[in-house]
Amino acid sequence: MSTLLAELIEALRCLPGVGAKSAQRMAFHVLERDRAGARRLAEKLAAAADRIGNCTRCRTFSETPVCTLCASAQRDAQLLCVVETPADQLAIEQATGFRGRYFVLLGRLSPLDGLGPKELGLDLLADRLADGEVREMIVATNPTVEGEATAHLLSQIARAAGVRATRLAHGVPLGGELEYIDRGTLAHAFGSRQNLDG
Ligand SMILES: [Zn+2]
Repeated sequence: MSTLLAELIEALRCLPGVGAKSAQRMAFHVLERDRAGARRLAEKLAAAADRIGNCTRCRTFSETPVCTLCASAQRDAQLLCVVETPADQLAIEQATGFRGRYFVLLGRLSPLDGLGPKELGLDLLADRLADGEVREMIVATNPTVEGEATAHLLSQIARAAGVRATRLAHGVPLGGELEYIDRGTLAHAFGSRQNLDG
């Protein structure tokens, strides 16, 4: 096998769920049938890796220092929904009529993986709550062990800032990931959220 081909197959394996066999199939496919698609994919991957950063206010993916959602005057600044990932943020946007703003942790508390309060941007979140604009912080971390531990810490931060914290109602299955929950269930859990005691 050519060196370049072997390197391409190895590089494709950085994608989640892509093992050696699938990587090989993808590489052969683009070389046999879709070189234009391969060039387009390469360009988009390079541009995204170079140009998509994180919003300085909410930490979600953004091409500008402040994302369009944070910059929008149409969103209610008194409501702040805290999620683990940009994918969870998108799931809530698509499933609910939420019109507030977000804060994206880019992970969840996981000391073994080196993810602590600093990595989750909790100092930035505390500053955000301290400026007094937020009235309710909706904690939408996943109902996993780590997500619950993260929710507990978030509730303490909210309490310290004098901000009411709420948690999505049960109905989100334990151990489930928001990203994969059907829209109706997520919308219901979001709508019937409950107070979270720190
Ligand atoms: Zn933002």
